[in-house]
Amino acid sequence: MTDSCLFCRIAAGTLPATIVAENAHAMAFRDLHPQAPVHVLVIPRAHVDSLAAASDAALLGETMALAAEVARREGVADSGYRVVTNVGRDGGQSVGHLHLHVLGGRPLGWPPG
Ligand code: AMP
Repeated sequence: MTDSCLFCRIAAGTLPATIVAENAHAMAFRDLHPQAPVHVLVIPRAHVDSLAAASDAALLGETMALAAEVARREGVADSGYRVVTNVGRDGGQSVGHLHLHVLGGRPLGWPPG
């Protein structure tokens, strides 16, 4: 937990968020600026800067599994959805705590911009 990290503060419950799912190692909450009808962020509770800094395979597994659980709960598992993690400057990462975007509820374009 770092006080300066937005998503650590959400994980600690000191910054409000609309939580949609949790497991022992990860939590999921609605994106503040949704880009699709379903736009949920899934984070490990423990601070990890990005996928580039992640070395705990179990933690990554729990986080990815929660993303699939979110898709089921949000009703997009059958219609389809996308799971994205932005890494670093060129990847468009704006929050320095690993997070998966779960996007769905409309057809999603490819390739991304
Ligand atoms: P990225 O640009 O991949 O780092 O994604 C960061 C995401 O966090 C963006 O989609 C933001 O809309 C979202 N975001 C930023 N602050 C908050 C917050 N306090 N609660 C929920 N989502 C947030």
